[in-house]
This record gives sequence, C-alpha cells and structure tokens, in this order.
Amino acid sequence: MSDEVNQEVDLMYGLKTVLSQIEAAVARRSKDLPQVAPRLVAVSKLKPASMIVEAYEGGQRHFGENYVNELADKASDTIILEKCKEIKWHFIGHLQTNKINKLLGSPGLFMVETVDSEKLADNLNKHWLKFRKDEERLKIMVQVNTSAEEAKNGIEPSQSTKLVEHILKSCLNLEFVGLMTIGQYDYDMSKGPNPDFLTLVKCRQEVCENLKLDINQVELSMGMSTDFEHAIELGATTVRVGSNIFGARPLKLKTN
Ligand SMILES: *Cc1c(COP(=O)(O)O)cnc(C)c1O
Repeated sequence: MSDEVNQEVDLMYGLKTVLSQIEAAVARRSKDLPQVAPRLVAVSKLKPASMIVEAYEGGQRHFGENYVNELADKASDTIILEKCKEIKWHFIGHLQTNKINKLLGSPGLFMVETVDSEKLADNLNKHWLKFRKDEERLKIMVQVNTSAEEAKNGIEPSQSTKLVEHILKSCLNLEFVGLMTIGQYDYDMSKGPNPDFLTLVKCRQEVCENLKLDINQVELSMGMSTDFEHAIELGATTVRVGSNIFGARPLKLKTN
C-alpha cells in the first residue's frame, strides 16, 4: 500500500518536472527552428496500467509502447478504456508483419513511429482499411537509423526521401507526419550537439527540399529521458520519455 502511494507521488512529480523542463528547453531553442510546441510521449513500457491511469488523470494523453502485445493489452484494458477515453497510443518499437493486425486493432492507436521500409508501409497501408474509422488516415513516422549501427532499426538517412516519396505517392491510407530516430545511447553531450539529432534535422531538410514539403509540417521525434531537453533545443517536436516519469525499468530487457 505505502509502495503504491509512493509510486503515485513520484510519477506526478516526474511528469510535472519533465513538462517544466520541456518548457524551459523550448525557450532556449533557436528561433530559426519551426516553433512547434513539443509533444511529450510518456513511454510506459513494462509499467502497469495503474500508472498509465495516474498519468492520464494528471493530464498526460500521449503514451508510447514498443512491444505490440503489451500495447494491445494495455489499450484494451477495461480500466484504461473506462478512465482514459482520449488516450493516444504511439507505437515506437520494431513492427513485425505478423503483428500488424494486432497493433492496428488496438483502441486509441494514434501513430506508428517506426516505419522503416516500403514493405512495412505497404502492409500498414493495406491493413489499415479494415480498421480505420471515418476515412481517417493512419499517422506514421519514418524511422531513420542515424547512428549507422547495424543492430538499430531504421532506414539509412540517404534513403529517407525515397521512402517518404513512396508513402506520399503510394500509401494513400497513411499520413506522413515526420521522422524519428533512437540514436546511440549515452552520447556524451560535453562533446557538443548529438550527431544523431543533427543528422535527423538534416534529413528533414533534405526530404522537405526534395519533395517540396513545408518544414513546419514535418515533425522530428527524438530525445529520451537522458537527452530530451537537448533534443528540443535542436528541434525535436516529439520527445519520448519513460524512466524520468515512471521510474527505472527492469534492466534485463532491451529498450529496442
Ligand atoms: C524505452 C524507449 C524510450 C524511453 O526511454 P527512457 O530512457 O526510459 O526515457 C524512448 N524511445 C524508445 C524507442 C524506447 O524504446
């Protein structure tokens, strides 16, 4: 019991702290960047539904998960369905073809941030027809592997225009929203701006120039607990923050 109470207090404190840090980072952001108010995605993976309800009741609406089964279970949880009617789920993990229907059928699914191939885009485009309401398109981001690490998902930066063009031309049930990166872990910020974030910013520049898109309309999802403020200063419009809000996760599980 006392444990639960403590958790509650920590969570609201964490959420408020992150929100005020976001605001402060926005004030430091270069005026040359699109002046979009960043969206906080609270990453709730491996955390119980009760904490999601708590954060929701504290005003948080966007939540991120990176395992399809976990997102589907939480999205269909009776308490969440009853108490979190406006919840917006972001899928931020690697999506396997055989899990697409399960993901797309999840109530409150708002965005898939990890589209990294034409094949995946085509599959989402095709299957979304069965699930969409009111002709609404499925919001997606293209995941870019900015750190050129083989273990990371995402397309190479040089391929991003091609994939975005494919989505715009051939995937009419999808709405291209922006670019997302995970980037290398524990980058030492004393070395200067995180090169992954700079690469994603440059990628957006190129995609917008090549495809004549308005840069103010193309989002950047980058930054996690350790570096979301830095990411906002460099132009992030979506930050994905987990442990600073919900507390540390069990170590044995990978985040990707
Ligand atoms: C887990 C995860 C996060 C959040 O990580 P924290 O360090 O807990 O803030 C953000 N993005 C992705 C893709 C993740 O898997």
